[in-house]
Amino acid sequence: MNSDMLKNCIVSSLVLGLVLAGAVAAHAQAGSPPPSATAIEAQGTFDPAAATQAWLATVPSNQRAKSDAYFEGGYWLLLWNFLLIIAISILLLWLRTSARLRDFAERVTPFKSAQVALYAVPYLIIASVLSFPLYVYENFFREHQYGMATQDFGQWFNEQLIGLALTLVLGTVAVVALYAVFRRAPRSWWVWGTIMAMILIMIGMLISPVYIEPLFNTYKPIEDPAIKEPILAMARANQIPVTQVFEVDASRQTKRISANVAGFLGTTRIALNDNLLKQCTLPEIREVMAHEMGHYVLNHVAMLLTYLAIFVLIVFGLTRIIFDAAVARWREQWSIRGIGDPAGLPLLVLVVTAFAFLLTPLTNTITRVTEREADAFGINTSREPDGMATVALKLGAYRKLDPSPLEEFIFFDHPSGRARIRMAMDWKAAHLPAGESSSTSRSSPALPPSETLSNEPR
Ligand SMILES: [Zn+2]
Repeated sequence: MNSDMLKNCIVSSLVLGLVLAGAVAAHAQAGSPPPSATAIEAQGTFDPAAATQAWLATVPSNQRAKSDAYFEGGYWLLLWNFLLIIAISILLLWLRTSARLRDFAERVTPFKSAQVALYAVPYLIIASVLSFPLYVYENFFREHQYGMATQDFGQWFNEQLIGLALTLVLGTVAVVALYAVFRRAPRSWWVWGTIMAMILIMIGMLISPVYIEPLFNTYKPIEDPAIKEPILAMARANQIPVTQVFEVDASRQTKRISANVAGFLGTTRIALNDNLLKQCTLPEIREVMAHEMGHYVLNHVAMLLTYLAIFVLIVFGLTRIIFDAAVARWREQWSIRGIGDPAGLPLLVLVVTAFAFLLTPLTNTITRVTEREADAFGINTSREPDGMATVALKLGAYRKLDPSPLEEFIFFDHPSGRARIRMAMDWKAAHLPAGESSSTSRSSPALPPSETLSNEPR
């Protein structure tokens, strides 16, 4: 591990040097097919593998090295963040800070839920302060180092204070709700806790677009008919009941291009960010929006919530065993009475974080597979294989374009640029007919076979 770390450091500093010299020549490329791909097409033998390589080869090597270094740095941050949470939790337990916070809360009020709230607020503040150095490196300095960020420190820090206030309010509500469950069901808390956790997550998703996101960004409907109409046409063709598409001013924080589906039930909406609007052509915008519509049509929010519930249930179930064993072993040292005691929160966080860390490849793969489904929907709906390829290259500014299969399996929550371009080129190579195939031009209307009819409800 150490030699790898060293290598990573050396590579990173080399890359940084190259990057500083080369500056940001990004986003200028893409838009028309690379010459080699056009040549392949002209010969009438379109080879998707060769076309994929040709697209990848359009990215200058210094740019590729920069985005690789940026993304690979993220692998290490995953580890550092995990180790930091573990260290903070162990510190709070062994120094008995956690027990003292609980004792303080019990002296102030006799009400259990109020005690939990009085424990949660200082706990969240201590955890936020201790993790701030790594957080500020990851989210401010590193983002500037790689030319992604657009805010100065004051603007950025103000937003973090809003974030901290939100964490204190919503985090405390969540902890109080979970401990109400833990106290009532000290043996089966992992089942009821899963239900409570899922309710809290769904409430969070429901209120986020209405009450949380507007604290950081402005969402407004896209008015330009040249952009809006082609998007709404795709929505109509897929039974998506929207009359407007939203633009979010993400350029306030970042230079990344992105789009998303957010909300839940009545608050669901599709938004694309202003960086995407500024930097992308209409074919690219159509492809990205068709991908987002894929999430909607394929019901990915409900599907991922179901997966998440199963995941939380398994993690809570395993946590229960380890939590009880740890409390039995270190009850005196940590002064924890059981699952209903808020002083055990750092232990709970430690065990859940460890499982979540170990299961990262699994959760990434689940997300990546749904993203791939949205990609398939996106290419079939937008019919923009070259647009899909150029967008994949632009997303390559912050996501490694051509990882090894193992790397993609472990670390990628979206398909890599190479995988996406290959899908686009395979689609292009297939030359799908669009309603002009011979079967539709037959004189007699094609009837479904009788056995199919017999299965129809009557
Ligand atoms: Zn997606």
